[in-house]
Amino acid sequence: MEVEPLIQLNNNKCTNCYSCIRVCPVKAIQVRYGNKHPIIKQERCIQCGSCIEICQPQAITYRSSIDEAKELLESSNTKVAILSPSISAEFEDITDYRKFVQMIRALGIQHVNEVSFGVDLIAYKYNELFSAYKGKYYITSTDPVIVSYIEKFHPNLINNLAPLVSPKIAMTKVVRKLYGDNIKVLYIGPDVASKDEVRMYEKDGRIDVAITFIELRELFRDFDIDESTLEFSEFDPPLGYKGSLYPLRNGLLQAAEMDENLLTTHIFCVQGKRAMIEAIAEFEKSVKIIKRHIHVTYGNWLIGPGTTNRGNTFLREHHIIKYANKRLRNFFRHEWHNELMEYSSLDLSRTFKENDQRLPAPSKEKIDDVLKLLGRKVTDRYGCEECGYASCNDFAVAIAQGLATPEMCSTYALRHSIDSSVETKEIRDRLQMIQIELEQTREDALHEKQLAEQASELNDFIFDKLRAGVVLVDQNLKIIKANNSFTRILGDDAKEINDVIPGLVGADLKKLLPLNLTNLFQYVLDDAQFIDGKDMTLGEALINVSIFPVRKNKIAGGIIRDMRAPEVQKAEVVNRISEVIDKNLEMVQKIGFLLGEGASDVEKMLNSIVEFYKSGNENK
Ligand code: SF4
Ligand code: SF4
Repeated sequence: MEVEPLIQLNNNKCTNCYSCIRVCPVKAIQVRYGNKHPIIKQERCIQCGSCIEICQPQAITYRSSIDEAKELLESSNTKVAILSPSISAEFEDITDYRKFVQMIRALGIQHVNEVSFGVDLIAYKYNELFSAYKGKYYITSTDPVIVSYIEKFHPNLINNLAPLVSPKIAMTKVVRKLYGDNIKVLYIGPDVASKDEVRMYEKDGRIDVAITFIELRELFRDFDIDESTLEFSEFDPPLGYKGSLYPLRNGLLQAAEMDENLLTTHIFCVQGKRAMIEAIAEFEKSVKIIKRHIHVTYGNWLIGPGTTNRGNTFLREHHIIKYANKRLRNFFRHEWHNELMEYSSLDLSRTFKENDQRLPAPSKEKIDDVLKLLGRKVTDRYGCEECGYASCNDFAVAIAQGLATPEMCSTYALRHSIDSSVETKEIRDRLQMIQIELEQTREDALHEKQLAEQASELNDFIFDKLRAGVVLVDQNLKIIKANNSFTRILGDDAKEINDVIPGLVGADLKKLLPLNLTNLFQYVLDDAQFIDGKDMTLGEALINVSIFPVRKNKIAGGIIRDMRAPEVQKAEVVNRISEVIDKNLEMVQKIGFLLGEGASDVEKMLNSIVEFYKSGNENK
């Protein structure tokens, strides 16, 4: 069955303060363009829960196991609760641990056992492992956060992880051996990582449900369980010994009764986020010099995200020690030892799986480019940590790796927003100018269009009113445009076509004019030469043809005059007689010169003919 991610971020509650990014030890929370809020990269997350604790609006939470727990409580199987030794730090409000045990039983649980005994068992195994030194130093694997951190970010150290299960798994094996395999096991503890840790185990290591102290309080409320109505009850055996000190930094060593003398010990104990990061990095780099095992814990067992009333670490440590002392009063060590021996034969070994989540280191050039973008000098690598990274250099690396964006730097964001507002104003002004220019251009275009339309109408009007026939043809001798006079000169066939296709647009000139005429058009198209006023016949008619190139090889125009038209006849008679007069005058002058007589009579006579035709033409 698909299980929800353990650590969840609710975008509706997120205020983008980036506090979670600042506390995440492995930068598993990503900010990227296109997402309004940070994203938890589950594959990188080590489930430390630090982001849950820091997030003020409680946008980050962990997967609830309340429903699963209630289901377990309703089952008919024998139910066994195993309790983390951290209970004394959490439930200080409950007057006596024996009341607390009874409250658990009141939930419907038949057996209540301490994980402290599992701590003792594991501590015993660590003692064995460390005592039988065979040239290898170990990192303890009791904390699932540390195991996850090594599997994901220091996979080279997997073989240095102590190959032992955690105390809660060891205790599960104990109770399953004790009560049979048909039981349901409920683990109650302070951390959230256990919720996923327990899913890895089957058979005798199987924990059915893991809940936090916060969830246990919720169950108490739901089941209306109050200590004042309950009597005392003791834990079921086997009881833990010094395992109840386990939540403390050196609790495992105390339980194992290992040498803690700083002059002689072979094991360092470190606790906390920074200590984890530094200790494991140094172990990887310098274990040959350090020559120590390390016991590392994240520090969630006293004030983790599964606990209430966070803070007061020392007070909580005090409660742990006080509780341990109380439990050890009248403690039967001999009996405990026998039980320890009995269960030490259980298989408490485990293996680990590499899950490398390290990102390739960006090149120095790329980091320097990002630093420049941020406005930091290449040499200026300290930082304010506002972005969530220890230095500007670390921040630049995260940006180069795609885990962060420059806007997470408040200085950059401020500068950028000022730049943007200046740029935005400039762009807005420019856009306004463009809009004004466009409006003007649109008006000019409209005006020109109107003028063009008027000119075109006028042209068409004049074109059609011309007495001479005018035609424009393309390179294929197809008519582009022809006026009414042209159609009229061509006769009835052309008129019929013109009725269907006004202006004879697209008609084939070759089908309308005889070959000798169309050849002239072709000639003008090909050679771009003018044919000026050529007399020709068209059927019965005498026509005068002028053809001229408009665009070489593309368009030619023709003007055809019907010489039978009266206005053409008169104009032509005038023209022709003027030509005759000119020629005759020339001749008469030559004869007059030879004969010595004036030619004025001939000249007068011809001029009178010209005047007669002109006046007759004007009077028409
Ligand atoms: S801590 Fe993270 S999840 Fe919570 S409000 Fe801030 S940015 Fe959002
Ligand atoms: S649980 Fe821890 S590792 Fe996971 S995102 Fe939160 S702070 Fe990071």
